[in-house]
Amino acid sequence: MRSLIAHDNGVSAILNLLELDRPGLEDYFSELGEKSFRASQVIQWIHQKGVTDFQQMSNLSQALRDHLQHNTVIHVPEVVYDATSSDGTRKWLLQLDDGNRIETVYIPEDDRGTLCVSSQVGCALDCSFCSTGRRGFNRNLRTAEIISQVWLATRLIDEEKKPGRKVTNVVLMGMGEPLLNFDNVVRAVRIMMDDFAYGLSKRRVTVSTAGVVPAIDRLGDVLDMRLAVSLHASDDELRNSLVPINRKYPLQQLMAACRRFIDKQSARSRITFEYVLLDGVNDSDQHAQQLIKLVKGIPTLMNLIPFNPFAGSGYKTSPIKRVERFNKILADAGITTVVRRTRGDDIDAACGQLVGKIEDKSRRHRRFEEPRIGMQI
Ligand code: SAH
Repeated sequence: MRSLIAHDNGVSAILNLLELDRPGLEDYFSELGEKSFRASQVIQWIHQKGVTDFQQMSNLSQALRDHLQHNTVIHVPEVVYDATSSDGTRKWLLQLDDGNRIETVYIPEDDRGTLCVSSQVGCALDCSFCSTGRRGFNRNLRTAEIISQVWLATRLIDEEKKPGRKVTNVVLMGMGEPLLNFDNVVRAVRIMMDDFAYGLSKRRVTVSTAGVVPAIDRLGDVLDMRLAVSLHASDDELRNSLVPINRKYPLQQLMAACRRFIDKQSARSRITFEYVLLDGVNDSDQHAQQLIKLVKGIPTLMNLIPFNPFAGSGYKTSPIKRVERFNKILADAGITTVVRRTRGDDIDAACGQLVGKIEDKSRRHRRFEEPRIGMQI
């Protein structure tokens, strides 16, 4: 049970109920001699109603309310910064109990509201064009720290009292590589998709990976959901320099894993490929042609992302004409494409700009040499 402890500093070891998905809560209640349906009741109180005071959980016995109050907490990180962009994008900086800070971004659109959630403090993968990666890595987020981002955003957006504003989609595209924090991410995604919690359908939750091949296979075995793969290059030499994990899992292995993933999913699912367009680096007509060959046979949504510049990156955004031309070549070959609009860049909320505040960045190299899947802290 060690991984379930919220404040495990030896002083107050107490269970944070946000660590548990419904099967976890069912186990917890059965150990207490309670019926398993208590799990559905409690998960509804916490995640649907946003109740953190156990005494308000009126369908639980008084004895159970008292037990939960004395032995557990419902504890979310503190919001230390809350900014709304001129385009409506809202960004929160959350302070974790150990002082690390992570970022969460809400992107409202006409027909949906997408929450971009972080999975690690920093990132160990060191992709050359990503500001998060440049800042180093500290640790995996716990399940509670991942799902807290959804819990908090749901409450804070509700408070805006703007009709139609809510979290309809979640993308694990914030700070970190979700598939290097496998177990905690899977547990948090289960809560997102649970009808007694957020009830998001499998098309509305996306895990994005830079290409941790064995974890893509494991993910396909345990969840039916959307996968996004950060491609950014269509040959190994270029991808090695942009996305260093490619040296460990080169493109042929990655694309084979994508095919296996699709085969395990329910009908009509497809993979989102993300491709950041970098001026003069990966945005030529030849690169587009090569990309078409690479994804052949895989049901594809190609997400073209104009590079969001940051100081010292050494890259430039592809000119709009180039983006359009690249897009047209793919579209003419029958590939479904979307050019991602940059959102929230006036508050540094755009892709690759989430940096938080990382207390000890020194673990990055150790972790990258030996990426381990599902490593628990
Ligand atoms: N590690 C995962 C999750 C992070 S997702 C992954 O790599 O998929 C963040 C997305 O934003 C990725 O597709 C990433 O490549 C992209 N990105 C990173 N830096 C960017 C930048 N400066 N401009 C535009 N997109 C960027």
